[in-house]
Amino acid sequence: MPPARARKGFRPWVEYSTDEIAALQRSGAIAQLVAVLPVAAVESHGPHLPLGVDAMINAAILEAAADRIAPAVLAAALPAQAVGVSPEHAAFPGTLTLPPEVAIASWRAIGDSLAAAGVRRLVIFNSHGGNPPICEIVALDMRVRHAMLAAVAETWRLMTAEGRLPAAELKHGIHGGAVETALIRAIRPDLVREGAVAAFASSRRDLAKSAPQIGSGKARLAWMTQDLNPAGAVGDARLASQALGRALLDQAADGLAGVIGEVAALPLPAPAATPTPAGAALRSRDGKAKRRAPSRST
Ligand SMILES: [Zn+2]
Repeated sequence: MPPARARKGFRPWVEYSTDEIAALQRSGAIAQLVAVLPVAAVESHGPHLPLGVDAMINAAILEAAADRIAPAVLAAALPAQAVGVSPEHAAFPGTLTLPPEVAIASWRAIGDSLAAAGVRRLVIFNSHGGNPPICEIVALDMRVRHAMLAAVAETWRLMTAEGRLPAAELKHGIHGGAVETALIRAIRPDLVREGAVAAFASSRRDLAKSAPQIGSGKARLAWMTQDLNPAGAVGDARLASQALGRALLDQAADGLAGVIGEVAALPLPAPAATPTPAGAALRSRDGKAKRRAPSRST
């Protein structure tokens, strides 16, 4: 997927020049800029969908959100981190995964680089169910060490198929089911393997009968996809329509644009009285860059 096209105040970070970032630093506007870090996954989604479902959904929502961000909002889309933390899908060929500690270190380092440039506002935009613990750790770290206003937005919280799908599918159709298949039908219909579209029932549907505490959500079981369905997908993909996918895409794009606008408008946290290590020394108390981060001469 190409990066979101430049529109109004929303540009891909990679399209800025270093002089343009420096100008934002001098004017102080860098502290207003909202950096959006897309994080996704490349993993098995059953026999009917491509490996890049989460990355494709992420890119499509971001692209659609770009048109909806208020013109006064200064925001930049960072390069998408397509590979996420997917060990739960590792039994299925084609899955790519980062160890959690590598993802944390990598996304923190991107945040540290942003902080060194004077960026104070961050939205981590996640489309993969295995990434939330990583996103939370990184967002909190940015708040603690860089006094950033850092938010985590997740695709499944920005949209709902309620009223459009049966309750059982809303609850159990968590991976390659009606929702994700509908989204790919809307984004890249040519990539849905029609002959393989099926109902992939979750083995957890009746968990409440044998384990009422866990089944009612009082505790959670760690799972690998094969625990839920041997095909590596969970949900009824037959219920997926292109119209549903388009509606979900619209909802999520509206939601993401709204989140970005709110992160642009909220007051920044006060910098810590006692600077925390790693990166804090690069900025003065008003958040503007004191000096450039040391760079290699190559
Ligand atoms: Zn997925």
